[in-house]
Amino acid sequence: MKFDILTLFPEMFEAVLDSSIIGRAKDKGLIVLNYIQIRDFAFNKYRQVDDYPYGGGAGMVMQAEPIYQAYLSVADGLDYKPHTIYMSPQGRTFRQSKAVRLAKKYNHIVIICGHYEGVDQRVLDEIVDEEVSIGDFVLTGGEIAAMAVVDAVSRMIPGVLKSEEAFSEESHYCGLLEYPQYTRPEVWHGMTVPETLMSGHHKNITAWKRRKSIENTFHKRRGMLAKASLTDEERDYVERLKNK
Ligand code: SAM
Repeated sequence: MKFDILTLFPEMFEAVLDSSIIGRAKDKGLIVLNYIQIRDFAFNKYRQVDDYPYGGGAGMVMQAEPIYQAYLSVADGLDYKPHTIYMSPQGRTFRQSKAVRLAKKYNHIVIICGHYEGVDQRVLDEIVDEEVSIGDFVLTGGEIAAMAVVDAVSRMIPGVLKSEEAFSEESHYCGLLEYPQYTRPEVWHGMTVPETLMSGHHKNITAWKRRKSIENTFHKRRGMLAKASLTDEERDYVERLKNK
């Protein structure tokens, strides 16, 4: 998967995405991260890429042409259109299911990070396939949001995590939150690891994890249970939790 990220602050990405699992995926060539400095495509001598908004209003707006030229620098000459995302608080909220879909469907994604008051609408109309938000709040720029998307999508690319098991039981992947996790030591501050997890009995461990997953979801994000795929027995268990 290749990500081309159009930004005014490429240095922000390296610090985060060169580390840990994503950094290793990059080193192995499973993902390619390419940062394009939009300012390199400014057309005046001050390298200015923003201007006052027509109609007045607070702040500055990023101009269309530098973003368009930055986009052409990665998209021109290809025999396909790279899937192009504008990070925006006005977009659809990003979810795990979206991360899975993006990883499966595309080999090349362009991400545009806005700044200031946003971006001239015309370049969005010209090149953007979808707007994606990471939540109903407003960030200073699209960089942090883009990093979240790149990270979540990259984890879904085969080979980035050690096994599919590493994410198939994780929160949100199958509509539930994950079960609680424990590691050594067995006793910490007087609290012990649940006995089942130390029993070595795989069937019981799997059943424990599933039950705890349902309980976690019930207590933390009850709304998710309506859409989760549960057996009749598990639905009964949820009813019992409600009546407790
Ligand atoms: N004036 C814009 C509005 O009200 O919709 C907000 C602009 S915001 C200050 C600057 C940039 O940050 C946006 O162009 C976008 O790229 C990014 N951004 C802000 N909040 C975001 C969010 N929740 N998700 C994704 N990107 C966001």
